Amino acid sequence: MTFEVTILGSSSATPIYGRHPSSQIINHHDHIHMIDCGEGTQQQLQRFGIRANKIRHIFISHLHGDHFFGLIGLLSSMHLVGRKEELHLYGPAPLKEILDLQLYHSQTTLRYDLFFHPTQHESPAVIFEDQLLRVSTFPLSHRIPCTGFRFDEKPRQPKVDMEKVKALEIPPVYYPLIKQGKGYRTADGDFYPSAELTIPSPAPRSYAYCSDTIYTPAYVTAIWNVNLLYHEATFLDEMRDRAEETYHTTALQAGLMAFETQAKELLIGHFSARYKQLEPLLEEASSVFEATQLAKEGATFKVKYAV
Ligand SMILES: [Zn+2]
Ligand SMILES: [Zn+2]
Repeated sequence: MTFEVTILGSSSATPIYGRHPSSQIINHHDHIHMIDCGEGTQQQLQRFGIRANKIRHIFISHLHGDHFFGLIGLLSSMHLVGRKEELHLYGPAPLKEILDLQLYHSQTTLRYDLFFHPTQHESPAVIFEDQLLRVSTFPLSHRIPCTGFRFDEKPRQPKVDMEKVKALEIPPVYYPLIKQGKGYRTADGDFYPSAELTIPSPAPRSYAYCSDTIYTPAYVTAIWNVNLLYHEATFLDEMRDRAEETYHTTALQAGLMAFETQAKELLIGHFSARYKQLEPLLEEASSVFEATQLAKEGATFKVKYAV
């Protein structure tokens, strides 16, 4: 089952060196979600061949411009190309006021239904759920209210072991019960527990997005043990004081957070305009957490099953 992250923007604050402000696409089983929507996100979607109309849910972490200034443009374009499918938007409550004002003064009535779901930054909360996936928010510590997002796959039922059920001549009508954990008793009276008749599905995978935040243990529990962690790494550690002043994280701290929370892999992004070359940030995070990669724009990262 597909579970992957495509980076559209990796820059903090301003577009520079060909890098764009924050945005990414999460594809889970062909359900397309967007996290943050900085300026230029529409162009990045076009550049990387991702159809905006496939997006069903947009999650906005906070109201600094580098995380949502692309939103009204994207919503307007969806309207202009005749989108009919509903769209769900999650973000801090004032976002609705901002969008309403923009739409009101341009006398635009969207042709599709836009459902706004306000988020809160006081405590972790589940904000979206379907049969396969659960999305939750958790508080980050930034200059203004900000939440991270965690995507968790739901556990899947085991598969029926066809060889075994056929050998025992178990009628297919019993397969759903066996998958749900019920055993089966044959005509001879032999009992087979579900575990003997099924093949377990792989353990559910998880992805967490942390941008923007100061390095703090406050959200350790919320991102515990994810398969892939995206963490902002705005500065090198020599700028730690500046990171603290501006409520951001250094690459070393991002690596430490991945290590401390037992993440399997780490992606770093939200790079400051002061760094033209990103390798030093990668080296710094990798020095404490080896399985680190740079969130390069256009690159797609699989959320891998734990081995
Ligand atoms: Zn930012
Ligand atoms: Zn910010």
